[in-house]
Amino acid sequence: MSSTAGTERDSDPQSSTTPDPDTSTTPQSNRPAGPPTKSTRATARPRVAVVGGSLSGPTMALLLLQAGVEDVALYEAVPASAPQGGGLIGLEHSSLDVLDHLGVPQDEFVRYDSEAVMHITLCQRRPGQVARHLYAGRNTTWTLLHTALSRRLPTDVLHTGARVTGLSAEHDRPLLHFADGNTAPADLVIFADGRSSTGRRLLDPQRRLHYAGYVAHRGQTTTTRPTLHDFLRFEASEHSGMQFNVAPIPDGADWTFYLSATPAQYEDFFGASPTRRLFALPQHITAAARAEVDASAEQYLPEEQAALVHATTTRMAAPVMDIEPPTRMVWPIGAGHAVLLGDALAPVRPHTARGANNGIEQAWGLTAALTQHRKYHADLTTALDGWQRRHLPAAVAAVQLGPELGRRFGLGTV
Ligand SMILES: Cc1cc2nc3c(=O)[nH]c(=O)nc-3n(C[C@H](O)[C@H](O)[C@H](O)COP(=O)(O)OP(=O)(O)OC[C@H]3O[C@@H](n4cnc5c(N)ncnc54)[C@H](O)[C@@H]3O)c2cc1C
Repeated sequence: MSSTAGTERDSDPQSSTTPDPDTSTTPQSNRPAGPPTKSTRATARPRVAVVGGSLSGPTMALLLLQAGVEDVALYEAVPASAPQGGGLIGLEHSSLDVLDHLGVPQDEFVRYDSEAVMHITLCQRRPGQVARHLYAGRNTTWTLLHTALSRRLPTDVLHTGARVTGLSAEHDRPLLHFADGNTAPADLVIFADGRSSTGRRLLDPQRRLHYAGYVAHRGQTTTTRPTLHDFLRFEASEHSGMQFNVAPIPDGADWTFYLSATPAQYEDFFGASPTRRLFALPQHITAAARAEVDASAEQYLPEEQAALVHATTTRMAAPVMDIEPPTRMVWPIGAGHAVLLGDALAPVRPHTARGANNGIEQAWGLTAALTQHRKYHADLTTALDGWQRRHLPAAVAAVQLGPELGRRFGLGTV
């Protein structure tokens, strides 16, 4: 896939790589009210640029194409050949229905259809009370879902190896800037570029990630466990300082072990600070990190789960991060707009199981707003305002829920 198709060589060396605060971040309330202007009518066939090709971005691009928005480009920083990884993700019915609407059969990305969550309380490493409840959704993995989405993207829509570095307003239109010096104009820029979002840094720079004081250690085994069908959650007691989850995935099991770690320990375990290394891939896992996780498994988990952890060779980790809740999702850029979506808007703690769900639900809502604009010439600024009003509260609630859950498990510093 070409990394430059659909972009234009930047011919203006003066062109800024960050938005001009005077032209591109004017609050919407400063814009003239009234009937749709010529420009909003003229963009009823808007050019849409989506930044980020993981989960929220491809869902967004596919929904737009399905809704008849023809001029869509999806830019992903990582080259197509680069390995990306990710583990188990619970999708709620709202998200499953969006995927259904896109024509993605559920059995393509849900391989174990159990709805059961077994909540197991441990007492001195032995399983005590077991509470069973049902999850209003199904489990998938990042890999299954990402593959299902990306294989449906037309090749002329997806541009891999295209890292966005800036956004400016030129000729009254948003202009994306890329690391290789290319640029691409758009009427609407949708940043779905994840936890370390460039879009958030440009549009909402006050909101910075800060480390919550604990780590989601992850592992994937390559041997199947015939007795494992459900999602199992182990907790020692309230405030015990750990949580362990395990569930089946194709050809193995996926576990997440939440454990506290100081910033210095994080750096020792993964070779960089939590704010610099937001995903520790298998090659970043040091012997110190392995030893810490193995020892904690020995300390807290029943023998069977401890043995599973010890035998896991493929390990990853993600520091748990917090951020101020968002206060807006939409920014005017000249006569166009830029929005934040998914983890780019609100990177929530993993226990909330809301990150991917938020992104998919927001993409669905944004498609409705753009459809009203495209088909019925609804004023685009007003349509985007309505989208923000409907989806911001859920994003704020999920950001606020994370620290509550962390406190309940006795994890981290809050
Ligand atoms: C342990 C764990 C468990 C989880 N469990 C759940 C769960 O049960 N349910 C749930 O809903 N969520 C869960 N999540 C969260 C979920 O994984 C994320 O919310 C989801 O992956 C976010 O998707 P996204 O597409 O918004 O962002 P990301 O997956 O972060 O993708 C961002 C993409 O943008 C690209 N990119 C970044 N910068 C640029 C740039 N400058 N230019 C171009 N491209 C760029 C990146 O390469 C990447 O492909 C969990 C997370 C963890 C760590």
